[in-house]
Amino acid sequence: MMFKTGKTGITGGLVLAAFFTITTGPVMAASCGTGNFASWLNGVKREAAASGISRRALSALNGLKYDPEIIRRDRRQGVFAQSFLKFAGRMVSKNRLTVGRRKLKQYARTFARIKKHYGVPAPVIAAFWGLETDFGAFMGNSRTISSLATLAYDCRRPELFRPQLIDALRIIDHGDLRASDMIGAWAGELGQLQFLPSDYMESAVDFDGDGRRDLIRSAPDALASAAALMVRHGWKRGQPWLEEVRLPRQMPWDQAGIDIRHPRAQWAKWGVRKANGRPLRADRLPASLVLPMGRLGPAFLAYPNFSIYLKWNESLVYTTTAAYFATRLAGASRVHSGNGKVTPLSGAQTKQLQRLLKRRGFDVGKVDGIIGAKTRAAVKAMQIKYRMPADSYPTPALLTKLRR
Ligand code: CA
Repeated sequence: MMFKTGKTGITGGLVLAAFFTITTGPVMAASCGTGNFASWLNGVKREAAASGISRRALSALNGLKYDPEIIRRDRRQGVFAQSFLKFAGRMVSKNRLTVGRRKLKQYARTFARIKKHYGVPAPVIAAFWGLETDFGAFMGNSRTISSLATLAYDCRRPELFRPQLIDALRIIDHGDLRASDMIGAWAGELGQLQFLPSDYMESAVDFDGDGRRDLIRSAPDALASAAALMVRHGWKRGQPWLEEVRLPRQMPWDQAGIDIRHPRAQWAKWGVRKANGRPLRADRLPASLVLPMGRLGPAFLAYPNFSIYLKWNESLVYTTTAAYFATRLAGASRVHSGNGKVTPLSGAQTKQLQRLLKRRGFDVGKVDGIIGAKTRAAVKAMQIKYRMPADSYPTPALLTKLRR
């Protein structure tokens, strides 16, 4: 459960590792990769000791070896390009829903205490739990200290990983985990909700009252810590996060998009209804219309609490899927496929689209076959120019027009 804190992401947890895009930051001239690993490690030791970490905790660094496999995995991270319905179908599987519902029952009392204390509802936490580690079943098998030391020594993002390494030592020093307990994902995320050490130090809580914050073995600790982290990132008690809706045939499509907000009453006025056809509550709650497959596909209203998901991952397909999973655990029915047939562009077509948009002077970022915020904005501008429904979703028809 890794939130972006101004810097780029590392991975987004286990399930994300395969398709999270990494933007490479500037190469740091800092003390990375210079000299041999052992003497570099001594420098880390000195820094950690100076910041007050005990010698006992520092012994976790003794005899560490640079692990080239970690670096290979770091370089191997691919990109994500799949339609929402396909991806959500895979991620929010029948089995995950079944296990998720069982976990909600099994930990009902814990979840009730968490909701009372933090205001985060059980399904939201359980969905993250399921996506990150399949409810604690797969937490990774890399030695955290060794992974983080390797990534901090590497010159790609030492500014990100060196503080994580120091905070991993703090976790040991604090008595929460022993170095030998620290087995997790290859990029240093730990426990049932895949916390990075810095988030662990800042937000983890001891919720089962045994005196230690154990996000690996204690589900209550892990779940409550996830809630604490969400509150730190702005979760608002008592508010929804995402709601599937039904759209009219005609509406101002250019008002769709995660950056555009209107009171829920305004959406109701435009003919947006609940997924079951009933009227929306006509109140002032700000909401964005999210159309992960365009105006003919599934439709959602995203509320202020959805910002948690946007801080968690950059892919709108991924964030919508995670939030949708939470709505399913909260009792919503399976998503409708929308008002028509959607033909998503292939990865190659999306790249061609990006090249064509670039040629017309749009900044689409990297030509990577991923429909990110910049590509969506450029698509919308061209749709308006061509007098097409401006829902920001690229169709084969738009691509044909652009090719002319
Ligand atoms: Ca505990």
